[in-house]
Amino acid sequence: MPRMAEIAHPLRRSIFRGLSGHCPACGQGKMFWKYLKVNGRCEVCDTDLARYPADDGPAYLTILLIGHLVVAPMLFFPIVWRSNPAYSLPIILIPLAVLTLAVLPRVKGGWIGMMYALGVKDTDAHLHVADAAD
Ligand SMILES: [Zn+2]
Repeated sequence: MPRMAEIAHPLRRSIFRGLSGHCPACGQGKMFWKYLKVNGRCEVCDTDLARYPADDGPAYLTILLIGHLVVAPMLFFPIVWRSNPAYSLPIILIPLAVLTLAVLPRVKGGWIGMMYALGVKDTDAHLHVADAAD
């Protein structure tokens, strides 16, 4: 049975390079060619970035971060509950959506940086025990 992934590269460096939208290997090439589309290969060091899976992890982590750091503290302000929803909902939801969409690519970059550091590739999907029942 194959062993679980070991840390193959410096974890913190790879995550921070990914968070900044750069290749976790060299820190120079761009991670994305569109909003959330990962470059197949780094244009600088030719690292195959497409082989590191992100799946739904970045979306879950973004929801977790925004929900705990923005939405939950916001609910402690009485103005949120007392104001007219016709005015307060757009005022709250539009910036919240913009913030979430701004954070998501950063989190996805950091996620792929983490996958790179841990050496988890899309070919390791057979190690994913949650899919064993399928
Ligand atoms: Zn690179």
